[in-house]
Amino acid sequence: MAEAFSGGCGCGAIRFVCSAQPLAIFNCHCRDCQKASGAPFISAMAVPSAAVTITGQPKYHSVRSDSGNTMSRGFCAECGSSLFARISGRADAIGINLTSLDDPNRYHPTMDIWTSSALGWVHMDPSLHKLAKGPPPH
Ligand SMILES: [Zn+2]
Ligand SMILES: [Zn+2]
Repeated sequence: MAEAFSGGCGCGAIRFVCSAQPLAIFNCHCRDCQKASGAPFISAMAVPSAAVTITGQPKYHSVRSDSGNTMSRGFCAECGSSLFARISGRADAIGINLTSLDDPNRYHPTMDIWTSSALGWVHMDPSLHKLAKGPPPH
């Protein structure tokens, strides 16, 4: 399979390659993304899980999402980089944080989701589609 893009964590212990183009690209302003990333929102893409090859061992932390699914976030236990998100109701897709790509400018978010919990000082691009709540991916 041809490589569409690659990336990894800050220390290099975890690397990934993806052979497919993103299914969706978004900024998620939900509280869970804020807490997990330490940033006002996460910019991420959903890609088909079968297209992603991960090397290294991400540590996963699971929480119950608003939809009742289990949301598992993968991060590097060495350097703490937030990398992946898996959701129990969507085994066919995996979320990848845009900031972990080797070329983080390669894809641009097309929507803001969970804007109902967006922080008041965050300036969102008015041209992007807005969803007060999910999906994707929650
Ligand atoms: Zn790392
Ligand atoms: Zn979120």
